[in-house]
Amino acid sequence: TDPALIRNFCIIAHIDHGKSTLADRMLQITGVVDDRSMRAQYLDRMDIERERGITIKSQAVRLPWDGHVLNMIDTPGHVDFTYEVSRSLQACEGAILLVDAAQGIEAQTLANLYLAMSADLHIIPVLNKIDLPAAQPEKFAEELAGLIGCDPSDVLKVSGKTGEGVRELLDHVVSTVPAPVGDADAPARALIFDSVYDTYRGVVTYVRVVDGHLGKRERILMMSTNATHETLEIGVISPEPKPADLGLGVGEVGYLITGVKDVRQSRVGDTVTAAAKPAGEMLAGYEHPKPMVFSGLYPIDGDEYPELREALDKLQLNDAALIYEPETSAALGFGFRVGFLGLLHMEIVRERLEREFGLSLISTAPNVVYRVVMEDGKELDVTNPSEFPSGGKIAQVFEPVTKSTILAPSEFIGAIMEICQGRRGQLLGMDYLSEDRVEIRYTLPLGEIIFDFFDQLKSRTRGYASLDYEPAGEQEADLVKVDILLQGEAVDAFSAIVHKDKAYTYGVDMAKKLRELIPRQQFEVPIQAAIGARVIARENIRAIRKDVLAKCYGGDISRKRKLLEKQKEGKKRMKMVGRVEVPQEAFVAALATD
Ligand code: GDP
Ligand code: MG
Repeated sequence: TDPALIRNFCIIAHIDHGKSTLADRMLQITGVVDDRSMRAQYLDRMDIERERGITIKSQAVRLPWDGHVLNMIDTPGHVDFTYEVSRSLQACEGAILLVDAAQGIEAQTLANLYLAMSADLHIIPVLNKIDLPAAQPEKFAEELAGLIGCDPSDVLKVSGKTGEGVRELLDHVVSTVPAPVGDADAPARALIFDSVYDTYRGVVTYVRVVDGHLGKRERILMMSTNATHETLEIGVISPEPKPADLGLGVGEVGYLITGVKDVRQSRVGDTVTAAAKPAGEMLAGYEHPKPMVFSGLYPIDGDEYPELREALDKLQLNDAALIYEPETSAALGFGFRVGFLGLLHMEIVRERLEREFGLSLISTAPNVVYRVVMEDGKELDVTNPSEFPSGGKIAQVFEPVTKSTILAPSEFIGAIMEICQGRRGQLLGMDYLSEDRVEIRYTLPLGEIIFDFFDQLKSRTRGYASLDYEPAGEQEADLVKVDILLQGEAVDAFSAIVHKDKAYTYGVDMAKKLRELIPRQQFEVPIQAAIGARVIARENIRAIRKDVLAKCYGGDISRKRKLLEKQKEGKKRMKMVGRVEVPQEAFVAALATD
C-alpha cells in the first residue's frame, strides 16, 4: 500500500469509557465484521478479558475506509500495562482520546494523553456515550478542550453503542491524522508492539514497519537479542489474520510468524530488521518490562508443585513480563517467588493459573522491591521479606515511590488527603479541572498503594475517585521486618517489611488472627510478633489435652484403629512449625487479603 493512503491510529481512554465498544462499531461500519458475526468487545479475545470486560492485550485491525487503509490499535487501559500502551502509541501517528460524556476526564485519561503527547501523536478529542441520558456533552467538551488546548467545538461527539458520529470520526481520522513517513529503500526496521503465544502457530508477533520492507520466507534479526528467525508467514489482521504474499512495507501494520514458541524471543519494544541487510540503529526506547510487585505462590496441595511449575512455564510463553523462581517456605512448602508489573497483573496471572490449569493456589502478601545498603557498603535488592537482613548492620533502606494522580469531585478533597497522608504521601499539587472536579497529585510509596489503597479510595469517595500512578524513583524510609513466631519459631510466610509506624499494628493484627485460626495443642503456644529480637506483640493459645482414644470405652479394637487412621488423615493437611501443628487452612485464611 502507498504510505500516503495509510492512517495508523489508536484509541486511548480511561477504563470503561468505551474504547472496545467504539472499536466494535468501526469494525462493523467499515464492513470488516458483518452484522451476523458481530459480538460485543469483538477484539477482547481472551476469556478473562471477556469476563472482566477489560482489555489486557493490544489489538491491531486493518480497516478499509474511503479508499484508505486505517490501522486501528486498541490498547489496554490499565496502569499495569502502560508499557504496552506506550509501545502501541509508537506504532501510530494519531490517537483518539475518548472520554465518557457522563463521567468526564479521569486519571487514566490524563496518563494516556501525556503518553500520546510525548509520542508526538495527533490527538483527536472525542466524547463518547452521548446517547446516555446522564451525558453532559457541553460541560465535558469544555473540560476536554481546556485540557488539550483546543476549541470546545473541535471536540467530536459519538456513541459507540448506537454508532452515531462514528462515520464522521473515521472521516476525521483520514483528513487529520498524518500519513506515515519512512524510507522505503532503507534497511528494514519494524517495531514489535505486541507478541502473543498461540498453541497452534507459536508466537504471533505484531509489528509496525517504519522503514524498508519485510517479506515472507525472509531471515529476520531481532535487534535486542541478535537472534535470527525465518518468517513463515506475514500478513495483516482484518479482523482475522490474512497472509499477505507481498509482505509489509513502510507504514504498514501486521503480524509475522516465525515458529518460535516463546514470546521472550520476540519482545514488545524490540526492532525487527532483515538479517541479510540489517539496520544500523534500533528504533527508540527498547527496555525490559520491570516487575514492581512480588509475591510467593504455592499450591495448596503440595503434590501440585510440578503442575504449578509447568503452568508458569506455559503462561510465560505468553507473558514476557512474568518472571519467577523456585522458593521454599517452611510453612507452605515448595512454591515460587513471582514478579508482576502491578496488582492487576498479579490478579490476572493467579486467576489464569487457577482457571486455565485447574490449580488451587495460596499467595503470600505482595511486596515491592527494597534496596538495602549495609554498613560495609554492600547492597542487596530484597524481593522477599525473608531475605531482609536481620541484625543491626543495615545502613539505609530505600523503597520505590510513585507519582500518583487522583481525580475526583472536589467535595472529596478532605477524605483523599487524609488517606494519602495516612500512607506517607507528600502533596505535589492540586488543580481544578472544572469548578467541581479536582486533580490531586501525590508522591506515594508503591508499597502503600499495593495494600488496599484503591479500595479505600473508592469507598471513601463513593466510587467517584480514579487513580493513576507511575514509578518515580525511590526514597529512603524507616522500614523494618516484622516476624511472626510460633513457640519461638518464625513462620516465614508471615514476615513482612513495613514502615516502623505500622509495625505494631501489623504484629498485633497478625497475632490475633493466628490465635483464632490455629487450634489448641497439647501444650501452650505463644504467638509473638518481633522486630529482630524485640517482641512487639504477644498472644497465647492455651493448651488442651486431646486424646482421641479416651473417647472409646471398652476395648473395641477396630473402632480404635479407625479413629487413629482418621487422625492420621487429618495430619496430612497439617504443617509442622517446630512442634506446633498448623492446619493448611489457617495459613490460607491468615494470608487472605480481605
Ligand atoms: P473500554 O474499557 O474503554 O474498552 O470500554 P468498553 O468498550 O468495554 O465499554 C465499557 C462499558 O460502557 C460497557 O458496558 C459498554 O457497553 C458501555 N458503553 C460503551 N460505549 C457506550 C456508548 O456509546 N453508550 C452507552 N450507553 N454505553 C456504552
Ligand atoms: Mg476495552
